[in-house]
Amino acid sequence: MYDVHQIRADFPILGRTVYGKPLVYLDNGATTQKPRCVVESITGEYYNTNANVHRGVHFLSQQATELHEASRETVRKFINARSADEIVFTRGTTESINLLAATFSQSQMEAGDEVIVSVMEHHSNIVPWQLQAMQRSIRLRVIPMDDQGNLLTDEYEKLFSEKTRLVSVAHVSNVLGTVNPVREIIATAHAHGVPVMVDGAQSIPHMPVDVQALDADFYVFSGHKVYGPTGVGVLYGKEEWLDRLPPYQGGGEMIQHVSFEKTTFNELPFKFEAGTPDYIGTTGLAKALDYVSAIGMERIAAYEQELTRYALQRLREIPGMRIFGEAAERGGVISFLVGDIHPFDMGTLLDRLGIAVRTGHHCAQPLMTRLGIEGTVRASFGLYNTREEVDALVAGIERVRKMF
Ligand code: PLP
Repeated sequence: MYDVHQIRADFPILGRTVYGKPLVYLDNGATTQKPRCVVESITGEYYNTNANVHRGVHFLSQQATELHEASRETVRKFINARSADEIVFTRGTTESINLLAATFSQSQMEAGDEVIVSVMEHHSNIVPWQLQAMQRSIRLRVIPMDDQGNLLTDEYEKLFSEKTRLVSVAHVSNVLGTVNPVREIIATAHAHGVPVMVDGAQSIPHMPVDVQALDADFYVFSGHKVYGPTGVGVLYGKEEWLDRLPPYQGGGEMIQHVSFEKTTFNELPFKFEAGTPDYIGTTGLAKALDYVSAIGMERIAAYEQELTRYALQRLREIPGMRIFGEAAERGGVISFLVGDIHPFDMGTLLDRLGIAVRTGHHCAQPLMTRLGIEGTVRASFGLYNTREEVDALVAGIERVRKMF
């Protein structure tokens, strides 16, 4: 049994009201709320175990280091990486992709080389490549999609050339909810001898992910979207790839020996972790992963799938409803417009009813251009959302619709 009410009791913020109305939090694609165990892990570590990691001989530093490195092992297990050395802690998805874009293009790409992305990427999987493109004249090739929000795999195949160096795609679209066939996308790329980075920002919180089963070369995600703290994230990379990439930032932690003549770099994963890491955040992230693991990612996925089916069915009953993203394989992100009501108006009025949704381009302007719109309203579910909240959303939309 999936006891959603018991789960909700772990998230104190879900009990609050806004404008005197019970909070209906449907902005989980942007960030998720935190269970008590994560918040307590953060305060507990500051109160009891705070010391800088890795460099200390003293008791507290060793204890903090143990917690930090145990968190790396928790992440390894969660995504089934082969080795904890393949887990690089970053500030989040965006920093993970910037790290990869900078180090990969610096060491593996020449002018004229190409990276394949998809039309539904978040800006953070577009702009880092463009920044590199400006310096090294590399090119982005874009996988198109059909009107339902499925990537066109035949067109994808055609994008490969002897210039292709990397494929970089989202596992789940943060606008359409499409679950992309990343296993097939990776197999196709590998058949061309090209590695693949998967942006897991919207998949990690919602489904089991096994990087070895996917055969992903790189996989990135943010802690705050999976019920963990802000400011911490992960870059997974196969050891053979991480070994080939140069350091990203310089500073403490990432060196073996420094002299003014020559500096040598630390081993994996520390080569990519310059400066004091967010060791409090990594412990919080590990707590969040333990929390969702204890519920079970399969069960979370099944529950959210059922909730999404219900929401889609209810939303489609609303006159004038247009849903963007009708892929057969989809997650709990629903983008929509109703009649000619501006998404900002819809979002603002829903907010007055206590319903938190997101409006706008969702950091995916090229996708908005493809859809021929400026923005949408987006409701995105987490493991604690309920059918009653879906009903509140539907009733709220109906109320707004009648006002216009
Ligand atoms: N990629 C996708 C698909 C996202 O949905 C997001 C955030 O919404 C990001 C990347 C960026 O994540 P962050 O802001 O945590 O770095």
